[in-house]
Amino acid sequence: MDLDHRPTQLVFFPYPLQGHLTPMLQLAQSLLSLNPSFKITIAHTHFNSPKIESPLKFTLIPIDDGLPVNWQPKGGADLLKLVDTISSNCRAPLFSLLSRLNEEDPVAGFFYDGIMGFAGEVGTELGLKAMAFRTSSATSFAVFANIEKLHEMGYLPIRDFESEERISELPPLRIKDLPAFSSDNSVLESFWAGISQLTKQTKKASALILNSLSALENEALKMIQHDFHIPIYAIGPLNCQISLNLLPEDSKCLSWLDAQPPKSVIYTSFGSLAGMDSSQVAEIAWGLANSGCRFLWVVRPGSVNGYDAAELPSGFMDQVGSRGLVVGWAPQKDVLAHQAVGAFWTHCGWNSTLESLCAAVPMACWARFGDQKVNSRLACGVWRVGLEMGREVERGEVERVVRRLLMEREGEEMRERGRELMQVLESSLEKGGSSYEAFEALVNKLKS
Ligand code: UDP
Repeated sequence: MDLDHRPTQLVFFPYPLQGHLTPMLQLAQSLLSLNPSFKITIAHTHFNSPKIESPLKFTLIPIDDGLPVNWQPKGGADLLKLVDTISSNCRAPLFSLLSRLNEEDPVAGFFYDGIMGFAGEVGTELGLKAMAFRTSSATSFAVFANIEKLHEMGYLPIRDFESEERISELPPLRIKDLPAFSSDNSVLESFWAGISQLTKQTKKASALILNSLSALENEALKMIQHDFHIPIYAIGPLNCQISLNLLPEDSKCLSWLDAQPPKSVIYTSFGSLAGMDSSQVAEIAWGLANSGCRFLWVVRPGSVNGYDAAELPSGFMDQVGSRGLVVGWAPQKDVLAHQAVGAFWTHCGWNSTLESLCAAVPMACWARFGDQKVNSRLACGVWRVGLEMGREVERGEVERVVRRLLMEREGEEMRERGRELMQVLESSLEKGGSSYEAFEALVNKLKS
């Protein structure tokens, strides 16, 4: 074999949740578009193995994750444990796979999800350029990088989870925006310790890649740049179309949207993880119904009390008739780009937030946990394209927020600001824009 003509290989190791898989594959796709000679290999766990529908030129290789066949997390605790399970079970198989791949075709870059620090260690051990990719916002990453400082300054442990007090080190954030998963400080302490450790580990990576850009998160990016002495590539927003769904998509929503007037529909979806109980479902349902507005609502199978099929309040669908549609999973990017959609009621996952910005759709922000609270703060308090909702969903508030976004001037003003921001994002991805240049610099690093 002619060794000089072997293709340059890039290996990607995504964390197996929807909100992590999509941006990692988008990163791979974007790098391939910039340099079509790259050979792309995706190493993935059996759990949530990606089924890619569009014809991407990726080679997919499964890694034994040691989880029972068809294992599904039964709740938040299982999800929090997933990272530890994968860390202990996948280290050895990842090591052998990467060594084998590197012998076949040189691996010019190993991209791993930064929440799997062990993968970075494996890559470094093998002498590869181990690139940590974090799929959350730069601001939440900056919080995680400053856990010790937040303790020293007395912001942690959190005394009042609803405190509006500003955090002087992290300007837009208030104490209530800190990315907590629980309101029990004893649970949170071990979470802070783990995430802080993980973030420090990222400092040993060959580079840090963030799905963001200075036009959105300048302060946070500057802080990270200052504290991390490794190259940082802010290449967001990753926006190429990747058809990767872990749940079957209900495409009838697009034809339903075709029949609705422009900017008349609120798209309502809380991502791939957040759950609800029956009383929250009732508040959402009656809030949407009472708003008098049109809505497309995603109720994910398993998201209500863990049941496969959610029960909607009796009489609800009769009352709303053809003004509302409830589906199990939607083609979200197509929905947001549809001319009938005028607002997005979101949990503010980072992907959903960016997708909303890329489509200039203003948001009703119902952050549930973790970094969603940070993203909600950015959308409402910094970019001013969202309305913050209370932690406890309540039908009267829902009705008011939906009407403000779809029927009042305030919503139109946010749409206008959103369009301006969308143009900024688009130009950052064009030649000469900050994200384009970051991508080019990344490709050069891979070639060096
Ligand atoms: N998504 C989708 N259809 C849906 C709901 C969500 O395609 O009905 C996608 C959405 O476009 C986004 C991802 O699922 O890319 C959710 O990621 P995000 O970071 O917003 O939230 P998470 O699911 O991680 O909480």
